[in-house]
Amino acid sequence: MILSTHAIVGGAVASLLPLNPAAAAIAGFASHFAIDAIPHWDYPLRSISLGKGSDNRRLSFSNATLRDFAVIGIDVSAGFGLAIWLFATEISIWTIAIGAFTAMLPDALQFVHTLYPRGPLHVLQRFHWWIHSKRALTGIFGVGSQLAFAGVIAVLARSIH
Ligand SMILES: [Zn+2]
Repeated sequence: MILSTHAIVGGAVASLLPLNPAAAAIAGFASHFAIDAIPHWDYPLRSISLGKGSDNRRLSFSNATLRDFAVIGIDVSAGFGLAIWLFATEISIWTIAIGAFTAMLPDALQFVHTLYPRGPLHVLQRFHWWIHSKRALTGIFGVGSQLAFAGVIAVLARSIH
């Protein structure tokens, strides 16, 4: 799923554990894999590649690469912003930020894996690839279903409080 959806779900999970940042970190991280298993839409990247057989070691600073980093940067910022806006209170703000961060982290680790495909990173990558849904939703339906999914999670988590 896209990073802002991961951040919203991570923030939602963390909001259920507002006084336990360590548990929120673990739950956020685990939530990434749980929702990646659901068939979903992902935006295409033009230059950076993730997933099986990817190698970004020869990535150059082309326009396509800069565009990819810009898109990812917007996605990450929107994710943090939305997670904090939706769930944070004065006491829980750090826990929410940690949950959102660890929920996005596995995709950053996928990128690191394309540079250093070794050790525990390799094991994690294999798991990520294995659990990630092989059914990609496309077009308006793909975008819409992910918006709806993030919305439902946000409403559910807020109604539990
Ligand atoms: Zn993922």
